[in-house]
Amino acid sequence: MINKELLKTESEKLGLKLDEIALERFDKYAELLVYWNERINLTAILEPDDIVLKHFVDSLAFLKYCSPENGASLIDVGTGAGFPGLALKIARPDLNITLMDSTKKKLGVIEEILKEVDLSANVVHARAEEAGHDNSFREQYDFATARAVSNLRDLSEYCLPFVKIGGRFISLKGADAKNELDEADVAIKTLGGKVDKIDIFELSGCGERAIIQIEKVSNTPDKYPRPKGKMVKQPL
Ligand code: SAM
Repeated sequence: MINKELLKTESEKLGLKLDEIALERFDKYAELLVYWNERINLTAILEPDDIVLKHFVDSLAFLKYCSPENGASLIDVGTGAGFPGLALKIARPDLNITLMDSTKKKLGVIEEILKEVDLSANVVHARAEEAGHDNSFREQYDFATARAVSNLRDLSEYCLPFVKIGGRFISLKGADAKNELDEADVAIKTLGGKVDKIDIFELSGCGERAIIQIEKVSNTPDKYPRPKGKMVKQPL
């Protein structure tokens, strides 16, 4: 259903070589996304070329700026229909990926897609601010990532508790990334993070995107993450 040549060419611009198996998997993913979207509201992006650029390539841009080692662990917080985590798994099947979301029915679709493309990942139904206190998740990951879940300040409170010291929180953001970064400055430091770099790029005719890399330099204090209500009332 998708234009595989477009996906291949755009991925090459990111320095990625997708083989035929990966291209087939992305094709199946797009087909299932459209199919399930008629039953469960997953995404407003449904035109095949838009799926390629605004979901797949947008997710894969992570790999242009950050190259996880073979077998690295990564948690995608608020994965929704699998972005960026499931797209990363297709491009890099060696990664040990956890896909977390608070909406159970979306995770049912993710499980179905994983089965159809013959890949496995840990699919976790949880709220990030609760799972962040569970020792089986807390400070267990080489990478945490998220796209379109929250502002960077609150997102840092969701994501940094999952990251091991020496690991990274990679945030996929849009044109307002620099302002978000200013607003999140105190939170990032409080939670044990240090901003390493921000890469800003144009997503093939779809506008400006940014990838923010935050290194985990010290343990997150025990009291974080806080319940959502507290984050809203007392922002860091
Ligand atoms: N990351 C996907 C993407 O870029 O297409 C989905 C984005 S969607 C706008 C936000 C997702 O985050 C939803 O699926 C929602 O259920 C999930 N979410 C929001 N708050 C969350 C939380 N505190 N913990 C876990 N998931 C959360």
